Amino acid sequence: MNDIDKDGSTEPSVLLEKIAGEALEAQATDIHLEHTTGGISVKFRIDGRLVDMAHLKTPAASRLPTLIKYLAKLKTYMHRCPQDGEIDGAKFGFKGRVRVSVYPTVEGEKVALRIFNEDKRSFRLKSLNLPEDYLATLKRQLRQPEGLLLFTGPAGSGKTTTIYSSINYILKHGRTNIITIEDPVEARLEGVTQTAVDRAVGLDFPQALRCLLRQDPEVIAVGEIRDENTARITLRAAFTGHLGLSAIHAGSVVSVFVRLLEMQVEPFLLTSALRLVTAQRLLRKLCTGCGGEGCEECLQSGYKGRLPLVEYVVVDEDVRERVKNCSSEKSLLEFLKREKSFRPLGERAEYLIEAGKTDLAEVQRALGPGSVYAGLQTGKDMA
Ligand SMILES: [Zn+2]
Repeated sequence: MNDIDKDGSTEPSVLLEKIAGEALEAQATDIHLEHTTGGISVKFRIDGRLVDMAHLKTPAASRLPTLIKYLAKLKTYMHRCPQDGEIDGAKFGFKGRVRVSVYPTVEGEKVALRIFNEDKRSFRLKSLNLPEDYLATLKRQLRQPEGLLLFTGPAGSGKTTTIYSSINYILKHGRTNIITIEDPVEARLEGVTQTAVDRAVGLDFPQALRCLLRQDPEVIAVGEIRDENTARITLRAAFTGHLGLSAIHAGSVVSVFVRLLEMQVEPFLLTSALRLVTAQRLLRKLCTGCGGEGCEECLQSGYKGRLPLVEYVVVDEDVRERVKNCSSEKSLLEFLKREKSFRPLGERAEYLIEAGKTDLAEVQRALGPGSVYAGLQTGKDMA
């Protein structure tokens, strides 16, 4: 891409369109432009990783940050403070928007563009590449009238996409009174009432939940359970005739139980309301063009596209009993491995490596070293 402005005669606006075009072509989610000594560096985020694309030294390139600030209606004369804005995706030929954030650096400015391409984001369960056994289980649970489904995984693990796609599935299967509480709303879902928490006016998750439950929705999706109040209200709602979906911060299925017990949620409420717990990661797929060697298709990285890695457990009578009487994270994990269709992330990852879908380096990046053959992170005692 270094020759994108070969003779140095390109206008900055044409140059920007060319860069955006390349980014869309590469299915990048972000474009980073940064003043460096003697030019502008261009990086794309592809499959979750930043990739060096070019180092442009032309006068047009050095004017890109100012042009972007102008398009995003930011103060072009201000260089010393961070600014945020937005550009309509139509400017680059797609439906959606580009979120712009500008940050001052010692060399000049760093501009990050996040692409929200609505053409690409249809949020359909069947297009997520979820393992078949899991997809069938998830769909079955989504058709139930009540109960709570919890999703966990670090930022960028695809859990929001799974939740959004699940909501669309519920919508398609007849239930239309669906309310979300998010922080912030990441994408608009047609036919769903989406609300955002707003701490400035004292509207946090528990407060918003209490208000919205009075409107008696059939389905309620809570952006994230972060505290014991939110946990308790959500679980109680799921126990009294609502279907609930929520994310929770924990590393694995087993740690979700531990986290909730640590929040002092009554084991009875926890186990009677909870139906399905899912932990997710996204793994980069080995490029099918070169098998991981590196080629033009995959920009020499050896990877192209991503696929979800999922572990889950359906909370049935046995699991319920076990959680209530469980003394440690380790013993619960041992129980699930022995008795259930449950397979830990590490084991499922191993299978994907054997099937040639990804490699050990990528799994270790996503799960941490040693995780493939252990699947066991801690032996921490439960509260
Ligand atoms: Zn390749």
